[in-house]
Amino acid sequence: MKIAMFSTKPWVHQAFDPLVASFHADITWLEPRLEPATATLAAGHEVACVFVNDQIDATVLARMKDVGVGLVALRCAGFNNVDLKAASRLGIGVVRVPAYSPYAVAEHAVGLMLCLNRRFHRAWSRVLEGNFTLDGLLGFDLRGKTVGVVGTGKIGQVVCGILNGFGCRILAYDTYPNAVLAATGVEYVDLSTLYAQSDILTLHCPLTPETRHLIDAESLDAMRNGVMIINTSRGPLIDTAAVIAALKSGKIGYLGLDVYEEEHGLFFEDHSQEVIQDDVFVRLQTFPNVLITAHQAFFTKEAVDNIAHTTMANIREYLETGTSGNRVD
Ligand code: NAD
Repeated sequence: MKIAMFSTKPWVHQAFDPLVASFHADITWLEPRLEPATATLAAGHEVACVFVNDQIDATVLARMKDVGVGLVALRCAGFNNVDLKAASRLGIGVVRVPAYSPYAVAEHAVGLMLCLNRRFHRAWSRVLEGNFTLDGLLGFDLRGKTVGVVGTGKIGQVVCGILNGFGCRILAYDTYPNAVLAATGVEYVDLSTLYAQSDILTLHCPLTPETRHLIDAESLDAMRNGVMIINTSRGPLIDTAAVIAALKSGKIGYLGLDVYEEEHGLFFEDHSQEVIQDDVFVRLQTFPNVLITAHQAFFTKEAVDNIAHTTMANIREYLETGTSGNRVD
């Protein structure tokens, strides 16, 4: 198993290293992100192993095919960054990790809600400076509030369970409603009802052509004034320019993001010594009611171990049988 591991970070190395011997893997650790300019670094490897911000488009796939790659192994669940048609045309298989810990992402989403509401991040820095006043830290009880969950798959369901424990009323929207979840008290409604009634809105659907800019000026208009929006799914679900306008007008009262439309090239890297060139992102950071984490919702020990193990098992299965239960078609 000759694997070119793109976007390698220390945590990737640490998670995969213990599996090298048992899977008889020969891994080349590559720090660069996969993009057209780096595609040929995969030369001589059967597998390119990639992450959420790697660019697996038709150009990259064709260049990798030319140098011997037959499989793209995603270390993540989402596959919106892969041109599946081009992969199929070129005969390159694509496998993913459909589930590694829905709890990791769900708990992070709820963490963002709690932190934004009770302003832990502001309280922490205030106390460090010896300022023990409470002005500006007033929160609200989650109990009795209405939370709208868009997408009730593996992660959305866990979010519903946690928020049930807080005593929230939960509205949900999914193209495939889940009867088992509905039996727990979650009310499936249409999107306009969900927008109109939710105090908090949390996104857990995949990025598809239909969900791109789901949150835009029109949908924001249909929401309650002061709504809290949480996005731990994929950045382009939100039209960032529309959200900035809604933050300025007060329509959005709180915004929690773990993902951002233009996060590739920004997230997962240390830019602390540079001038950040993305003015939209920098504007977002100026709002006191915006909390951004850099795509870390998945980042728990359990999730990372599961990602590494499932990725290696996917690769072995595909190389031995020509397919995999986790193949993406
Ligand atoms: P899943 O496939 O189990 O669930 C997705 C749900 O969304 C499904 O129930 C599906 O029917 C629903 N859906 C599809 N199209 C929809 C639409 N147009 N409107 C409403 N619902 C729709 O996926 P999951 O494991 O719960 O993950 C959800 C998303 O979370 C992933 O697509 C991924 O983008 C994101 N994610 C983020 C992180 C992170 O670290 N921030 C980690 C893992 C996953």
